[in-house]
Amino acid sequence: MASGSATSGSSGTKAVVTRFAPSPTGFLHIGGARTALFNWLFARHHGGKYLLRIEDTDRARSTDAAIEAIFDGLSWLGLNGDEEPVFQFARSERHAEVAAKLLEAGQAYRCYLTSEQLAERRQKAQDERRPFRLDSEWRDADAAQWPDDQPYVVRVKAPRDGETTIDDQVQGPITVQNRELDDFIILRSDGTPTYMLAVVVDDRDMGVTHVIRGDDHINNAFRQLVILRAMNEIEGGWEDPLYAHIPLIHGADGAKLSKRHGALGVDAYRDEMGLLPDAVFNYLLRLGWGHGDEEIISREQAVEWFDITNVNKGASRFDLAKLQNLNGHYLREASDEYLADLVLPRLVAAGYPDADKALLARAMAELKVRAKDLNDLAEGAVFLFAKRPLTMTEKAQKLLTDEARERLAAIHERLSGEPEWTLEALEANLKAMAAELELGLGKLAQPLRAALTGQTTSPGIFDVLVLLGRDESLARITAQAGEHTETQA
Ligand code: GLU
Repeated sequence: MASGSATSGSSGTKAVVTRFAPSPTGFLHIGGARTALFNWLFARHHGGKYLLRIEDTDRARSTDAAIEAIFDGLSWLGLNGDEEPVFQFARSERHAEVAAKLLEAGQAYRCYLTSEQLAERRQKAQDERRPFRLDSEWRDADAAQWPDDQPYVVRVKAPRDGETTIDDQVQGPITVQNRELDDFIILRSDGTPTYMLAVVVDDRDMGVTHVIRGDDHINNAFRQLVILRAMNEIEGGWEDPLYAHIPLIHGADGAKLSKRHGALGVDAYRDEMGLLPDAVFNYLLRLGWGHGDEEIISREQAVEWFDITNVNKGASRFDLAKLQNLNGHYLREASDEYLADLVLPRLVAAGYPDADKALLARAMAELKVRAKDLNDLAEGAVFLFAKRPLTMTEKAQKLLTDEARERLAAIHERLSGEPEWTLEALEANLKAMAAELELGLGKLAQPLRAALTGQTTSPGIFDVLVLLGRDESLARITAQAGEHTETQA
């Protein structure tokens, strides 16, 4: 049995292989997405491989919908695995085979302690105010003594003396006294492998060199090393991976991230919040990792700069406002075509089935100045596709006084005669008109905006005129203008 002092971390110079191993019991959590991102970056930085493993051994809680959501979220973030994903449950036989090898080599044993016996011992320890430590009399029993007609579990023989140190790439060295490790179960009484066994076997068979995961798994690492080292003794080739346990994400208030801090699933960031994957990627990267003062970091730069040892030890705080700011930046950087593609389905879903992509793309330059997410863009674009008569917001309605309607009629007359429907021509025309009437341009622009968009805020008024085009603009103005001047409709 591996005992005495042993430090993990002997992966040497093998090509880097990382993995993201989510349990499909829910959506892709924002914390999970960051774990995936760090695994992806580390592998890319070292020219290695990044693999996916779906840990679906909890049959009752694993669902196909969750698997879909995980693949979907990863693909949205550009974090697809480099090979076909591995499904853990499908490998149960292989896990059991390893348990059999451990049994055969005397590194594991059949334990016939019943749950009543265990409960009694636990109670006794509690009564005597000492920590409970499993000390099964079956640990040293001879295989010949194993009854064949009674239920048993298979436990691995954990070392009893010495200590184990993990040289964690994020947390630094962590040492545990081996006597703290119990002989944990690797095969249940129904013969199914436990999670602890499955992870070790899969990581080894997938050639994983670096285990990068949430720091809630630190304690598991010590147990997993027990199996790994026992197998290495038996057949060699079961090397310790390097571990990097990354801190969890906390809410802005410092508490563990939960539903009340806002959306948790990556799908909500995409769908409800209308964020761009590049913004979420950049935000997650900066959450617990940094490169000088750089805030905006491209994928290429991230790959170049990322190092797991720079990841903060402390928990990072989730800051929604910061994420939204970053998103605003990426919106402004994104191409109009790309944004139009993303906004179009939102408009269709909002009841504008005729929304036109080309027009949307043309409007994007103006819309994105004011927007911080795709919802803002879609809302801002609604006026382009609204049908006459436009529904007015309360504020817009208020603007349309009798006087304003008369001005609209005058604007209509004037613009009907405008031969050139361009930004420059329209601007010159309306400015001249305002000057002639000795009015500020706003006095014309405000009712005009209300008539054209049904709102009191919109892109620049000349842009609106150009985007809507001559016919639609004039028709919208007519619809709101004072009736005595209602000329051509
Ligand atoms: N399936 C585990 C989880 O979702 C991760 C296990 C691991 O990374 O080793 O928390």
